[in-house]
Amino acid sequence: MIRPQPRDSVALMEGYHSPQIDVDVRLNTNESPELPPSGFVEEVSAAISKIEWHRYPQRSATELRTEIGKLHGVGHEQVFAANGSNEVLQTLLLTYGGPGRSAAIFEPTYALHSHLSRITGTDVIEGERTADFFLDMDEVERVITGSRPAITFLCSPNNPTGVVDTEDQIRRVLELVSDVGGILCVDEAYGQFADFSAIDLIGPDVPLVVSRTYSKTWAMAAARLGYLVAPGWIIAELEKVVLPYHLDAMTQVAGTLALRHLSAMNERVDRLVEERGRLMAELANLSVDVWPSASNFVLFRPREHEGVDVWQGLVDRSILIRNCASWPRLEGCLRVTIGTPDEDDRFLAALMEVLA
Ligand SMILES: *Cc1c(COP(=O)(O)O)cnc(C)c1O
Repeated sequence: MIRPQPRDSVALMEGYHSPQIDVDVRLNTNESPELPPSGFVEEVSAAISKIEWHRYPQRSATELRTEIGKLHGVGHEQVFAANGSNEVLQTLLLTYGGPGRSAAIFEPTYALHSHLSRITGTDVIEGERTADFFLDMDEVERVITGSRPAITFLCSPNNPTGVVDTEDQIRRVLELVSDVGGILCVDEAYGQFADFSAIDLIGPDVPLVVSRTYSKTWAMAAARLGYLVAPGWIIAELEKVVLPYHLDAMTQVAGTLALRHLSAMNERVDRLVEERGRLMAELANLSVDVWPSASNFVLFRPREHEGVDVWQGLVDRSILIRNCASWPRLEGCLRVTIGTPDEDDRFLAALMEVLA
């Protein structure tokens, strides 16, 4: 047998994986440290018991999309939902990217934007951010007008740096993208932590899509649900590409019921912001450089130790954070998710031991 080989673009690719190691304190994938509010699981169980299990789920997921739309002041025809925002982004790339087309990203940013682009055969144009990880508007203009990408990705607040792009910057990128017939995709996985949402800029003739997820602040990473808000004509194209019945009945129900607990979610965000302040203040006393964060994670770099050794030292103490030490532009950096006060204390105690 000649063993069949995958496409070149796949063969060259390393997966995007944060190791799932069995530890006591997991602060590596930016999930909510808290469970969904009391009542939610019972509501979902009751609704699941009424599912007609022998039937396909509602293909259009209209109720879910209607409720998501209400959250953002738009109709269901402006909402596309899928299994996590990664499937949302993949569908966007399958629809508007692909062979002969390109996607622009500004590094360092969320690794899945380039990874999903390559998987879908879309060329990746890498632009650079400033040394402090802010958008460099001259660079953005150079990349977009020079390469005319089909899709331009921004991520605000940006993962893994925690930086927010300003409204002025996003408006300017949108102008540049519009001039070359492209789409701007703003990934707002951590949008609840910013005081401006690009969703406010969406309009019938604006080539803008904004993606969100249930995996982080909604405390529902187990469900795999994400969505994007966009003009209706973009949603209609995405619906042609996605697999039929891709969103199962349980996920639709859970996503719809979660939205009844909006105030509990907002209170959770407030608690995380307060806890982030405490964690950053503690980190400032240690021998690490810390970047300001507008999200539920903090990027830092040990000054006198190798980042990877610190990461392993924490794993040895049953604390798992994200190891970015070998990522381009983030040499030696680590990213820690804001946990419960107790988890963060255990992380800090372990970090002090490792750095001592
Ligand atoms: C975590 C994260 C997502 C979420 O992906 P899901 O597939 O919805 O779990 C998307 N974008 C960014 C920037 C993230 O950090």
